[in-house]
Amino acid sequence: MPAPLATVETTPDLPTHADVVIIGGGIIGCFTAYYLSKRGLKVALVEKGRIGAEQSSRNWGWCRQQNRDARELPLATKSLDLWEQFTAESGEETGFKRCGLLYLSNNEAELAGWARWGEFARTVDVKTQMLTAEEAAQRGRVTGKPWKGGVFSPTDGTADPSRAAPAVAQAVMKLGGSVHQGCAARGIEMEGGRLSGVVTEKGTIRTRIAVLAGGAWASSFCRQYGIRFPQAAIRQTVLAVSPGANELPPVLHTTAVSMTRRGNGGYTLAISGRGRVDPTLQLLRFSTQFLPMFQRRWRNLAPGGLEGMRSGHEGMSRWRLDQPTPMERMRILDPAVDKAVVRLTYQRALDLIPAMKDREVTAAWAGYVDSTPDGVPGIGEIASVPGLVLAAGFSGHGFGIGPGAGHLIADIVSGVTPLVDARPYHPDRFRSSAWGKVAEF
Ligand SMILES: Cc1cc2nc3c(=O)[nH]c(=O)nc-3n(C[C@H](O)[C@H](O)[C@H](O)COP(=O)(O)OP(=O)(O)OC[C@H]3O[C@@H](n4cnc5c(N)ncnc54)[C@H](O)[C@@H]3O)c2cc1C
Repeated sequence: MPAPLATVETTPDLPTHADVVIIGGGIIGCFTAYYLSKRGLKVALVEKGRIGAEQSSRNWGWCRQQNRDARELPLATKSLDLWEQFTAESGEETGFKRCGLLYLSNNEAELAGWARWGEFARTVDVKTQMLTAEEAAQRGRVTGKPWKGGVFSPTDGTADPSRAAPAVAQAVMKLGGSVHQGCAARGIEMEGGRLSGVVTEKGTIRTRIAVLAGGAWASSFCRQYGIRFPQAAIRQTVLAVSPGANELPPVLHTTAVSMTRRGNGGYTLAISGRGRVDPTLQLLRFSTQFLPMFQRRWRNLAPGGLEGMRSGHEGMSRWRLDQPTPMERMRILDPAVDKAVVRLTYQRALDLIPAMKDREVTAAWAGYVDSTPDGVPGIGEIASVPGLVLAAGFSGHGFGIGPGAGHLIADIVSGVTPLVDARPYHPDRFRSSAWGKVAEF
């Protein structure tokens, strides 16, 4: 089933030209469109289904610096400020709050890892607080259990996945940008060795710059133009429980189960990292590059089924621009939930917090997390297709860093000093074997 999601109006007419066309209306495409529109550029955002309906509404809503890989941390830190600024300057509500994130553990190795990260965090001025057993028991008193320790990240927070991308799309339209839902980009046109237009199912938009923020669909789109973008999608299951009378912490992570307060007072429950890998020809093609990532995470991964093949997002076929494409056949990737994981997650939540029994399971959904081999997104202009900027592969972190990533992509497009050093994200690294260091978390 789809995750709850606010609706946004569609701009009636497709423009014939734009300064920039954004392909994909997830959180990344929306924030990119927002920062470009703020600079006075004429932006058209095309989305094959509904704004935010794929990963960007299916996630937990965490906006964290805690445990971030060094390559992504600067973007995470900037993003937290930008989430706040966005609401203040646009008047649109994303539900962002710096509520702090609480992690509890009885595992010495896990605690040691968090402590190591804490030492690194201090060198870059990020606040994080290791908790003693007493402090962990106090902060985690709702569990009624002893803990060996934990960590609290006071400046991190959450935003509401059911509202955020639609709120940003709304802000784009207020600034004069156009938003086209039910409008798949089938491909691009080239003239004089650079991009000259985006062909959509509703017509062609002339432009010199397109940003491909297509989430799990990006690699198959790239393949049409001979661009190698190693990408794999992991299917993860999440459930939501109803609001209740008892006071639970806004966010709590344990290895067994994680819980996050939703905008309506209910909670999202999930098991961190748990997922299914649906075999596809694309996965086979990039499998050697993903070995280090899967080796690190295999304990939480199980083989999936044929769903990934049927969905078409990892298809190997070439498509034509004058006929419906796989993107039009699958408007919204809404993969099947893993029922065993739903039962296990709920049971673990009850074991962790007995008061959870007063809350009913109201929904369960799944989402494909699109990942790169090193767990760091691909952001930057594609050398072989001047004018095409890739912005995908957010590897399970893209919601929280959405504002920073959107700002950075807008900086790259407009040729101004980037918000953060853009080099760690450049897609050039995918042209080699991409055996880069896999992100720790
Ligand atoms: C279960 C789960 C939990 C997660 N938890 C967190 C979390 O707590 N914190 C966090 O930071 N991240 C989290 N993530 C990851 C986060 O949701 C993603 O990294 C982020 O939403 C990616 O945004 P996106 O815009 O790149 O992709 P998406 O949200 O997937 O959007 C891509 C959009 O592009 C559209 N599209 C694709 N191709 C075309 C085309 N050719 N033409 C037109 N439209 C096209 C699609 O329809 C889609 O709407 C989680 C993800 C999942 C699934």
